Amino acid sequence: MTGNESNVVARRGLMLVLSSPSGAGKTTIARALLEREAGISMSVSATTRSPRQGETDGKDYHFVDVERFHRMVEAGEFLEHARVFNNFYGTPRAPVEATLAQGNDVLFDIDWQGTQQLGQNPNAQNDLVSVFILPPSLEELYRRLSGRGLDSPEIVAGRMARAGDEMSHWPEYDYIVVNDDLDRSIDAVRSILAAARLKRERQADLAGFVNRLRGLDRDSGG
Ligand code: 5GP
Repeated sequence: MTGNESNVVARRGLMLVLSSPSGAGKTTIARALLEREAGISMSVSATTRSPRQGETDGKDYHFVDVERFHRMVEAGEFLEHARVFNNFYGTPRAPVEATLAQGNDVLFDIDWQGTQQLGQNPNAQNDLVSVFILPPSLEELYRRLSGRGLDSPEIVAGRMARAGDEMSHWPEYDYIVVNDDLDRSIDAVRSILAAARLKRERQADLAGFVNRLRGLDRDSGG
């Protein structure tokens, strides 16, 4: 069932943002959400970082060089953009706007800086639903970031420090999910999406629909 089929009233698409420190399970939750929900697609960011093994250009990211990235910034092609660690990341504007206009939803995997920018953008803030995913405990986060024991203690300590910085931004989000059980966390994010889709403000033609239910608009009521 898509967001539209579940809902006879036409509605605008929404922007569902997932942020978390790395190691909290955000990527797994995002993938599961896209598999189980119709009517929502992932925003593919541009980045200046190099592709990791298994990543595909145009699917995981649009991999661009720094010069191209800055040209895109200057041309206003990004809805938001930020420097994360030593690389630049940005959300291309055009695909998001087209998807929302069709009444479909967009899922974002962006950091707190990008989420803040969307929240401050008068054209985006009404469509924004933000979710922060936390790991269940410090021990579990350490376990997930320790790279199966293959990485040096300094590298793991650096990851833990970055995770701590990212986590300090949880109060800026609409919803917080503590990922202690993957299936429950996926269900929680799906519930947030389901509720957001049903928000009164999002139902563009609610007045017409209710008038038809009340028999006040016999022409289009059938
Ligand atoms: P990674 O390089 O591990 O894929 O991502 C590093 C961080 O950058 C993650 O926290 C991810 O959410 C964030 N990120 C990815 N794409 C974007 C984007 O377009 N904008 C912003 N602000 N952050 C992004």
